Amino acid sequence: MIVVKVGGSAGIDYDAVCADLARRWKAGEKLILVHGGSGETNRVAEALGHPPRFVTSPSGYTSRFTDRQTLEIFEMVYCGKMNKGIVERLQRLGVNAVGLSGLDGRIFEGRHKDSVRIVEDGKTKILRGDHTGTVEKVNTGLIDLLLGAGYLPVLTPPASSYEGVAINVDGDRAAAALAVALKADALLLLSNVPGLLRAYPDESSLIREIPAADVESYLEFAQDRMKKKVLGAAEAVQGGVKRVIFGDARAGEPVSAALGGAGTVVS
Ligand code: ADP
Repeated sequence: MIVVKVGGSAGIDYDAVCADLARRWKAGEKLILVHGGSGETNRVAEALGHPPRFVTSPSGYTSRFTDRQTLEIFEMVYCGKMNKGIVERLQRLGVNAVGLSGLDGRIFEGRHKDSVRIVEDGKTKILRGDHTGTVEKVNTGLIDLLLGAGYLPVLTPPASSYEGVAINVDGDRAAAALAVALKADALLLLSNVPGLLRAYPDESSLIREIPAADVESYLEFAQDRMKKKVLGAAEAVQGGVKRVIFGDARAGEPVSAALGGAGTVVS
């Protein structure tokens, strides 16, 4: 089993990702796709007059502050436009894909964090009314059912809280939890960069290999949201996934290239 996560940043070629996935799926490979949608969510939120608010935690992680209205816009884009766009591409390529959020069948479950500690203008503050959380539990029942019946699952945040409330969760870490739960052979984290760069944005500074035991020490090279990918990779390898690859989804055959060792390989 291979879990492929494709991000939501500008420049990602979803046609290329879906064509590559479809070829491999038809050749008999077991695959699941998890996707993001941050770039499009930002555009739609601006257009709807509710621009995104990004906050930074005291430990330096950036995340989207998700009030109820933001959550609804997030769902419109992730579960609507992005998810159905990917399912449509796969269906056109002859793959019977099924798109689901983490809420459906509680595939992704975790604790609802209502307040978040942030640093703003050098001061630490607490913001309430956040609809975020982290995936702590993956319920694979529905996924097993779909895979067993020949469907390719296409999954997206949000997740469900233990109380059944929708929560915004990081897609990379959700994909890592899924890869662990499914005992996947590999987790691919595909985005709009060649992999983890030692000196971002210099693409010639690509880090080719990271020993699984050292992955957390590479957090220092990742800025902003790349930190979540490194954290997800650490969680996946610690959970028994043999290989995590940070790969490029901008062109070519992104899944095959990553599996062939292009990008940053954590093993
Ligand atoms: P996606 O939504 O596609 O999963 P993210 O925006 O969450 O992607 O994370 C990828 C982004 O992280 C890149 O587009 C890049 O701007 C940023 N980044 C920060 N530090 C690094 C780094 N060291 N190497 C590569 N990308 C980095």
